Amino acid sequence: MAIDTNLKTDPPKLMQAIREAMSGTESVQERLDDFVVAIQSSMRVNVASIYLLRPGAELELSATEGLNKSAVHKTRMKPGEGLVGHVALTARPLNLADAPSHPLFSYRPETGEDPFKSFLAVPILRGGRTLGVLVAQSEDARTFTEVEAEDLLTVAMILAEIIIDDERVGGKKGALKGISLAPIKPETLTGKAFAGGLVRGTAHLHLPPVSPANLLAENTPVEQGRLEEGIKILRASVDAMVSGEAASLSRASKEIYETYRMFAYDRKWVGRLREAVSSGLTSEAAVERVRNEHRARLMKAHDPYLRARLHDLEDLANRLIRALGGEQVGPGNRKLAHDAILFARELGPAELLDYDRKKLRGIVLEEGSASSHAAIICRALGIPLVGRADGILDLIETGDPVLVDGEAGVVHVRPLPSTSDGFDLRINIKGELKRAYDALKVQPTVTQDGHAVSLQLNAGLLVDLPQLDQAGADGIGLFRTEFQFMVSDFMPKLKEQTTLYRQAIEAAGTRPVTFRTLDLGGDKILPYSDPIPEENPAIGWRAIRIALDRPGLMRYQLRALVAAGASRHLRIMFPMVTTVDEMIQARALFQREVDRATSLGLELPAKIEVGVMLETPSLAWQVSAVCDHADFVSVGANDLLQFFFAADRDNARVSDRYDPLHPAALSVLKFIADRCKQNNTPVSVCGEIAGRPLEAITLAALGYRTLSMPVTGIGPVKAALLKLDADDLAKVIRPHMTVESRLSSLREIVQDYCTKNAIPI
Ligand code: PEP
Ligand code: MG
Repeated sequence: MAIDTNLKTDPPKLMQAIREAMSGTESVQERLDDFVVAIQSSMRVNVASIYLLRPGAELELSATEGLNKSAVHKTRMKPGEGLVGHVALTARPLNLADAPSHPLFSYRPETGEDPFKSFLAVPILRGGRTLGVLVAQSEDARTFTEVEAEDLLTVAMILAEIIIDDERVGGKKGALKGISLAPIKPETLTGKAFAGGLVRGTAHLHLPPVSPANLLAENTPVEQGRLEEGIKILRASVDAMVSGEAASLSRASKEIYETYRMFAYDRKWVGRLREAVSSGLTSEAAVERVRNEHRARLMKAHDPYLRARLHDLEDLANRLIRALGGEQVGPGNRKLAHDAILFARELGPAELLDYDRKKLRGIVLEEGSASSHAAIICRALGIPLVGRADGILDLIETGDPVLVDGEAGVVHVRPLPSTSDGFDLRINIKGELKRAYDALKVQPTVTQDGHAVSLQLNAGLLVDLPQLDQAGADGIGLFRTEFQFMVSDFMPKLKEQTTLYRQAIEAAGTRPVTFRTLDLGGDKILPYSDPIPEENPAIGWRAIRIALDRPGLMRYQLRALVAAGASRHLRIMFPMVTTVDEMIQARALFQREVDRATSLGLELPAKIEVGVMLETPSLAWQVSAVCDHADFVSVGANDLLQFFFAADRDNARVSDRYDPLHPAALSVLKFIADRCKQNNTPVSVCGEIAGRPLEAITLAALGYRTLSMPVTGIGPVKAALLKLDADDLAKVIRPHMTVESRLSSLREIVQDYCTKNAIPI
């Protein structure tokens, strides 16, 4: 057909032609053929071609109007090869006036494309996956207009729907059967780091069972028998799990599985299933119905912790459906590649153990929370976990190569060789650094100018305790007691609280453990209590404010702490204190519990220290006054800085807006350290900044001699402090810490100092 390429595109005509091409009932191949004809004539180009990804991840010329038809289903290229391959790899349109002069142009004689100069190609994308490439070519050397490029993208979108639809029905519709929909575009997604570590591996999609095909039972008594059999298998598998791998876990992790087992034996749950089957449903439909009831509750709850617990029930339902379908359920029964990275929307603790631990390298979830059971188990088992990777399931296929960065919460899917190389380098460096930090473990942390710095651990659960020795920490500077409350399904009893505190004290041996009393409210909500909606929960009814208004819960906790500290050194501190008066009241509450224990003749702690967390700007201005009532001060820098800069620490848009090394922030931190020193009150910093080498050496220069941090910080902070002359750095930064300072951060100054003095940061 002779084409007048001088005429402009007629968009309505193109869409109309596409609509016509879609109206028939032809095979998919015929539709592709119609599409290229429609594009060629409507866009007034010489060539329109569709390349689709075939098995083996090769792009194949699948339809053309304008190139040699004999090349269809023959011309193939790898993604990255030639211009078409380049568009597939980058997933970006390419618009060239003179394609043959482009360095990536690769000539395919069998297609007869010699005379064509201008080239417009767009990727055919679906859910982040590249399915193929749509190309228009013309003899004249012109650049296509933006409108033309947009039109071609619209057509590519429609094409993607047709292809996916064909895939969904298993390619039955026609010649597209076997078209590979393998995604090839590299993707990087950032979620939340819930369990640390760097791993590479092969993606494995965790798919919960599909909805039941038959809803109504043909024979209810038979169905009732099936349900009972399914429940029996389910319970046996959960029992096996609890006494199997779960039994070898620490107590806190084991409790998770015990709770899970309780659900499996829950009479209400089973009762509802039986009722549903009696009403005429199939067992699978009954499970689905009861699961939907849970989901409905879940939607209403709006509470991440409750959601995490309800997920256990979903997990159980999936397991039961699999058991009903005759699938083997039980630990290690799911097939995996030897280096699997598991991808799921959510993952229950039992689902996790369904996979062979030896093959499971890492986990990526679309949902999840730091306190979800999967996260706790992953930390205990040392499996890196990235959660809240929004949309990741649309981008991933089983078999894709993946890199999981559990430190930064980043997932690289189908990484480019350069990303992959860089990642390997990091794994190696991390390995080397770990060996170097391990070598420092027994060495006390003393700066070059002779200041000893105590490096302590932030902990909260039993699973954290082995890290004390692993990292060579000098104690626990912050034990977040609310964690136990947050991961339990019920309010921990007095005895459970006492046991945990005692275990922490014993794990630390002669090293100090500082228990922070319940810091609830804000983002820390209990699964078993209704959250009270507040406009600004971070500055709402939380922590000590709840404790003083409703002292019952805190008195109970203080009782447990006094009991746990019997004949040992007990250190406690109160969070979110805003005025000296609050500290006085809190201390009085504690004294009542000590008096009670005394009057009952109970064994008392050998030594008691009661401290205050300084995490509100108002208390910074009362620091001398509060020192009269506190045996020590611990600066909660996470909260102090969020309130100081009025920047929500959990809101990624604002949390990094201000540098903790801002001279204003450093001045406040120095003010606190100086006043504490004047009052002979020991002071420490516990908050994320204490665990970052650059910030930690700055804190040391400001006078802080105790830092409490996440376990990953201890090695790097120690390595930096060992090389630091703290007084010398103080001299460098002090001139910039005046109210006249115009700097927004001292980071560069401290960084330069480190470079000059070979301080590893
Ligand atoms: C802090 O605020 O710095 C702190 C250590 O406590 P949390 O992070 O638990 O609020
Ligand atoms: Mg805090």
